[in-house]
Amino acid sequence: MKEFIVAIDGPAGSGKSTVARLVAAKLRMNYLDTGAMYRAVALYLNSKNLSPSDDLTDVLDEIEFHYKDGSLYLNGMKVSEQIRTAQAGKLASDFAVNPAVRSKLTELQRAICKQGKFVVEGRDIGTVVVPHAQVKIFLTASFEERVRRRLKELQEKGTILTFEQVAEQIKLRDEQDSKRSLAPLKPAEDATVLDTTNKTIEQVVEEICEIALRRMNCESNRC
Ligand code: C5P
Repeated sequence: MKEFIVAIDGPAGSGKSTVARLVAAKLRMNYLDTGAMYRAVALYLNSKNLSPSDDLTDVLDEIEFHYKDGSLYLNGMKVSEQIRTAQAGKLASDFAVNPAVRSKLTELQRAICKQGKFVVEGRDIGTVVVPHAQVKIFLTASFEERVRRRLKELQEKGTILTFEQVAEQIKLRDEQDSKRSLAPLKPAEDATVLDTTNKTIEQVVEEICEIALRRMNCESNRC
């Protein structure tokens, strides 16, 4: 199958993961969560007492990913669950500034995307990883709404934090991700920016699927 990429970028709490998963299911495309890769690599590097300012080139060569039954494995170890903590998110954002980390993961993500039709979510998919993506979406939502969503998500997993604590985490992550010099979080110039603050998940999924289907039709009719 020819490559077809729907890139979905956006800040923490914008609804990317839920929306990207549903879009992929609806369009019968594969789903790639690049944030999960950053989280897994960060936990691995942290477990080796390394820091984002170290030279990480050699240790990154040891890292191998594979997917089995929808779960992510790093060097044979299933990591899908342990990467879902606030600490893993913070570590991912810290290590994501390191050029060797970015280059390794960008290369891997590009190789995966070449294999077919993918909905890919992250921070730099439309700008750096797949700038030729057929569909580029940038999801946003108001700061308060993003904090509320993250708070709810954490509560559902049994983690009790206050609104203020989650607000602080998101503010820090927004700053780190959008101010870094390499592949900062920003919409691609040709991205469709969707503000999800007052929209349901279904509405957002519907909008993205419509854009993607229009583009698919266009590709097959060579318009
Ligand atoms: O999306 P998620 O919250 O899982 O991403 C964790 C962190 O990984 C982000 O805050 C960001 O710093 C980093 N990341 C990135 N580029 C991506 C995906 C994630 O820098 N494509």
